[in-house]
Amino acid sequence: MDSSVSKRLFQEAQEVIAGGVNSPVRAFKAVHSFPRFIKSAQGARITDADDQEYIDYVLSWGPMILGHSHPQVVQAIQQAAEKGTSYGAPTQGETMMGQLIKEAFPSMELLRMVSSGTEATMSAIRLARGYTGRDYVVKFAGGYHGHVDSLLVEPGSGAAALGIPGAPGIPSSLAGMTLSLPFNDPESFQKAINQYGDAIACVIVEPVPGNMGVVLPQPSFLEKIRALTKEHGIVLIFDEVITGFRLTYGGYQTLSGIMPDLTCLGKIIGGGLPVGVFGGRKEIMNHLAPNGPVYQAGTLSGNPLAMAAGCATLEILRNLSEEYKKLSAITEDLCRFIQKSFTAGGIPVTINQIGSMFTIFFSPTQVTDLSSAQKSDKSLFIRFFTEMLEQGIYMAPSPLEASFLSFAHTQGDIDKTKESIVNTLKKM
Ligand SMILES: *Cc1c(COP(=O)(O)O)cnc(C)c1O
Repeated sequence: MDSSVSKRLFQEAQEVIAGGVNSPVRAFKAVHSFPRFIKSAQGARITDADDQEYIDYVLSWGPMILGHSHPQVVQAIQQAAEKGTSYGAPTQGETMMGQLIKEAFPSMELLRMVSSGTEATMSAIRLARGYTGRDYVVKFAGGYHGHVDSLLVEPGSGAAALGIPGAPGIPSSLAGMTLSLPFNDPESFQKAINQYGDAIACVIVEPVPGNMGVVLPQPSFLEKIRALTKEHGIVLIFDEVITGFRLTYGGYQTLSGIMPDLTCLGKIIGGGLPVGVFGGRKEIMNHLAPNGPVYQAGTLSGNPLAMAAGCATLEILRNLSEEYKKLSAITEDLCRFIQKSFTAGGIPVTINQIGSMFTIFFSPTQVTDLSSAQKSDKSLFIRFFTEMLEQGIYMAPSPLEASFLSFAHTQGDIDKTKESIVNTLKKM
């Protein structure tokens, strides 16, 4: 494949944009390569600046569950744009979007729109601290909740892939207020509660972590967290920025019945535009200004274009609520094929999959937390990723990330992907 245009564009970008990218994982550093610059996308396919077409399993890191350029979403954005792009005053679109979210997430009695997942988690922990009058925050190693100061302690996603350890730029006094615990480990959670219980404002958790690769919660781990947080007056925050509308029409809380006090959403709910939302129990949410003393604001929050794209996306997904199972079955079938092929080829892999998200770990051992995820063989992953890209399959350019399917992936796309797996395996 000739990628000379992307190479040139990356060089130009590096002259103006720090590192040439506006978000680190895009740089393809973890796979010792350079980013492919994208010029257009349609359905499950993206096209780069060198006119190479790829089947896309990144989907903008999760949001594009309907595939790219869905005609109804595009039309909603166009129609909204003609009426003005921002007013700094309320619009009915925000209420409509809120109603759609609340209907799917009954635990979100009141909510507030922001413009990114990071803003949602940042605001949620501020609110939890303001509500409880406590300072400590508990997170889990490998959990990624955006680049919030307090939450960049043992983060997953790009930081983990680049081997960035602590958090330069974050005052130690603040980082010291964050307790990072191993995921799926009820004993260490119990210990932290025994030690800090009544000083902890909130526990923030991706109920199904996707940023150390996909990791499934062991039964009863989240139940235990729910029970102990309730007992100690700690606000439980589910970060469903990835899992919201990814696994079902709703979130992991819909599937499991475990209800957090606050929920953060982003990615899918924006239909590709910058949107985040946090919300939960009325009693807590009413501590936000203007009703209460905890300040939170945003010039572009509830932006009319973003609301239009979000509403259009959610309305389409609501009609597809029965199709989620099918999408999950297609994903499972693909993962089984990959597992079988690699096993037959003598390369041990562990695949974690739920719904339409999955990660291939190049390791024979079960992956249940960050330390087991990090046992994945990086050099094998790089060879796999590089060869798949060469075959026109665009997967997450980092070993500790999730890959995603969309409703736009066709059987033809899946067949082509399987073929590429077979070809790739031959070259490994
Ligand atoms: C992506 C992500 C975020 C941050 O969202 P941004 O829109 O990138 O700020 C937060 N939490 C989780 C679980 C995410 O995957």
